Amino acid sequence: MEQTLIIVKPDGVARGLIGEVIRRFEARGLRIAKLSLVDAPKETVESHYDEHRSKPFFADVVAYLTSGPIAVMAVEGPNAVTACRAMMGATNPADAAPGTIRGDFALSLEENVVHGSADPESAHRELGIWFP
Ligand code: ADP
Ligand code: MG
Repeated sequence: MEQTLIIVKPDGVARGLIGEVIRRFEARGLRIAKLSLVDAPKETVESHYDEHRSKPFFADVVAYLTSGPIAVMAVEGPNAVTACRAMMGATNPADAAPGTIRGDFALSLEENVVHGSADPESAHRELGIWFP
């Protein structure tokens, strides 16, 4: 059994999509093991996005993720990391297939509704940050 870190980002929370995101994962057979609605501290988001520290969009993505409440969850199931990434769709919603969360609910690269861990190592690291 595997866990992955999923975040419904501020745009998703503001648009009332927490339930829709959870519904999709649960319908797939995944389990919500942990769930928390938080106004994330800047330092927490910075360590969450540590891999992007040198990128030009780092400051913007940190500012964005701290702009409103986010729903942070541990989603559990066989191959949860890969399953959730596939259900989320491509990072840029313009490239995300219909039927994926981003493909159905987003148009903006920054406001793309959800975060999901990229691989099991990232999942372990991110779960440790948000659920110490
Ligand atoms: P993912 O969320 O699919 O794992 P990344 O880890 O590459 O994607 O990027 C983290 C987040 O940063 C993305 O979800 C997106 O909101 C934002 N982002 C990524 N690339 C850019 C970019 N070139 N310009 C602005 N924001 C970006
Ligand atoms: Mg990523």
